[in-house]
Amino acid sequence: MMQQPAHAKTDIRNWTRLELRQWLAEQSEEDPKIQPYRADQVFYWLYKRLVQDFSEMANIGKATRTLLETHFRIGRLGREQVQRSRDGSLKYRLMLEDKKFVETVLMPHADHHTVCISSQVGCGMGCDFCMTGKMGLIRNLEVSEIVNQVLEARQDLPEGAKLRNIVFMGMGEPFHNYKNVMRALEIFTDDHGFNYSQRRITVSTSGLIPKIRRFGKEEIKANLAVSLNSVNDSVRSALMPVNKAYNLEQLVEACREYPLESHKRITFEYILIRDLTDSLEDARGLIRLLHGVKFKVNLIPFNETPGSHYQRPDWPRVEAFQQYLLDRGVLVTLRISKGQDIAGACGQLVVQEQIPA
Ligand code: SAH
Ligand code: SF4
Repeated sequence: MMQQPAHAKTDIRNWTRLELRQWLAEQSEEDPKIQPYRADQVFYWLYKRLVQDFSEMANIGKATRTLLETHFRIGRLGREQVQRSRDGSLKYRLMLEDKKFVETVLMPHADHHTVCISSQVGCGMGCDFCMTGKMGLIRNLEVSEIVNQVLEARQDLPEGAKLRNIVFMGMGEPFHNYKNVMRALEIFTDDHGFNYSQRRITVSTSGLIPKIRRFGKEEIKANLAVSLNSVNDSVRSALMPVNKAYNLEQLVEACREYPLESHKRITFEYILIRDLTDSLEDARGLIRLLHGVKFKVNLIPFNETPGSHYQRPDWPRVEAFQQYLLDRGVLVTLRISKGQDIAGACGQLVVQEQIPA
């Protein structure tokens, strides 16, 4: 039989362990030498030993290995470029099979690392302040393209360092690629896979309400972050077109009803933009709006992007906004974006040659 060309095969990292197990079970009806429980071992080789070839999967029987080789490939993302920021973060430009690019950022903190991953090439939500939004949606990422970003970044962790957090805050609207994001979460949290804690994974959405509701019902309880960015419907609609479909009242209602485990909160990301979202009136509006929601706020001083007419407020104004919230008992963190000198900060991720003219 002729070998299929490599790209015609599915990347095996597109499948969850359960999916692989079910498929092997079907195959075993034809050939009893195929054993479904091998899926667990395959995962061990793929995610703990990081092999790039089926022939390295030493304890997998010949029949199963040959079957896997015929149907799957083990893909890898190409490192097109890796830039190191002065603050130690690394920004990866990773090449996909079809020569499109995504960006991933590995960020060091005092005692741990966080990786910020992409869920789409570009983004279709069109937020006015965001460089990724300017690209438009090019395509959804496959599951393997999502999980391989983490594998790539993990290789650069300093000796002994741990990757603790995975955040879906790179390019793309994760809830627009809902199914693949959920399958990636399954692999991230699978004890035969990455074995990451659900508490350490955060999915950030611009506010797609039906998907927020659906996410709340999932078995995997990753953290939810919502990009709020303004407490005023007309301002938010100008910044984020999604607000025209799902306005603030509806969004907050969905968040109020969102089932949270004890001690958990929804994070609201809030970009401070000079003279638009940064007044104490806005801070007061934020507290009023989020009444009844278990929340914390993550303030992000606007990261200036080429050609953008928005500006970052002066530092005292940022501090005053934060202090106003703190004084009223709101949990609030300030995100001093990492990697600004290499355009790796929030909203700066863009692949220039992919912006439509
Ligand atoms: N698409 C998802 C996740 C990726 S964007 C979402 O919008 O939630 C991650 C965060 O970066 C969002 O909270 C977004 O509001 C913020 N962001 C985008 N552009 C920015 C910019 N130029 N400066 C600061 N934050 C920005
Ligand atoms: Fe897309 Fe998020 Fe950027 Fe909006 S802020 S365009 S949803 S990536």
